[in-house]
Amino acid sequence: MSAGRLAILGGEPVVPRQANRVAWPLVTEADEQAVLRCLRSGDFTTFSNPLAGEVKLLEDDWARYVGSRHCVAVDNGTDGLALALAAAGVEPGDEVIVPALSFIATALAPLHIFAVPVFVDVDPVTYNIDVARIEERISPRTRAIVPVHLHGLPAEMDSVSDVARRHGLHIVEDAAQAHGAVYHGRRVGTLGALAAFSLNASKNLPTCGEGGLVNTDSEELFGRVLRSRQFGEVVGDGWRRDYVHEALGWNSKLSSVQAAFARSQLQRLDAYQVARHRNVTCFLDSLRMLRGLRPPSAPSDRSHAWHILRFGVDPEEAGLDGVPAAAFRRALQRALQAEGVPVREYQTLPLPAQPVFRELRGLGPGYPWRLSSRSWSYRPEDCPVAARVVEETFTLQRAHLHPESGPLLDLYADAFSKVFEHLDTVGRIARGAR
Ligand SMILES: *Cc1c(COP(=O)(O)O)cnc(C)c1O
Repeated sequence: MSAGRLAILGGEPVVPRQANRVAWPLVTEADEQAVLRCLRSGDFTTFSNPLAGEVKLLEDDWARYVGSRHCVAVDNGTDGLALALAAAGVEPGDEVIVPALSFIATALAPLHIFAVPVFVDVDPVTYNIDVARIEERISPRTRAIVPVHLHGLPAEMDSVSDVARRHGLHIVEDAAQAHGAVYHGRRVGTLGALAAFSLNASKNLPTCGEGGLVNTDSEELFGRVLRSRQFGEVVGDGWRRDYVHEALGWNSKLSSVQAAFARSQLQRLDAYQVARHRNVTCFLDSLRMLRGLRPPSAPSDRSHAWHILRFGVDPEEAGLDGVPAAAFRRALQRALQAEGVPVREYQTLPLPAQPVFRELRGLGPGYPWRLSSRSWSYRPEDCPVAARVVEETFTLQRAHLHPESGPLLDLYADAFSKVFEHLDTVGRIARGAR
């Protein structure tokens, strides 16, 4: 390919605009038929057909897929996390360990049940929780750890489990980005006491809107999540509603229409993942020789669901001594965007730097933090790696999820090559000279 003038300087972009019109979720005729069948059945809610309705069928299929004994479908992944934490026995004022880099939901879910999130820095290569730093954040009030399989890469679960066992903590996996990913031969969703997945339309297993799935092997935890999903009612096989509410509950039910759509998508999840893995690894391979770029990778003991691709940069390796990594990242990102590659930030702040935490804006005058005998303040400086990752990396999202994104990723690879053939120009942009 030719290395013409950079598009950021007025040259022709490598990726034609229309090439970027990638649909996700991919809606097939089978999906349409599934939704139509549901509409025609009159089965619209979680319990209009509790034994054989779409919600129950999705739960059975997903439990089997993940390899866990039970599944409860819920209205979204965030609520799934909160219900899982509550089921695990997290109480108001308890502390929950979460990574400093994630989607905000990981840290809001504890707040929803009046628990206090405690942030642990992340690993600079995997971007997952840095297990070596968990213990220093554990206090007598710590009750649970929420490892996030960020971007689709399973967290270092053996070490997380060791720490949890030593301190008597529950593990609730945040698997919202990692459907189907495997760690040491087991699918994520089976690696803690409970796990929460998201079915949001942006995720690898999407529904036509919002949804979530909670997995557990424990009969007791399963019963608690089931009860809390529907107004505290006890729900069993052959259940007939008696309007007796045994305990605190929410209304976190999934609609049958969304269950039907997700269930239809689930039938293609493995095939899509195989295609995605092929497309993404081929794309990443073609970027390996670009000096100064750090493409994502997966350790050999686990698989990556490739939900998000995060790229690091190294200005020195790129021959741009003296250019700060953050400035190099911004210049690269702008140059790639000009070439038509939809790269962007994913998370612009580490979680402890979010205003909700810096200002302790919870419920009323400072709850849940007031429930604790300690005085709370969040210091993003305590999580320097997360802060650096946010400044010095960029991501590619969605475009690669489509199973037929291979040709598009080839174009992106050409755009990367072109930009990296003009590193002197990128360096000049980064230095602010142009
Ligand atoms: C999407 C996401 C969630 C929340 O899922 P929703 O279904 O959007 O509520 C939680 N954690 C992570 C890491 C996510 O990416």
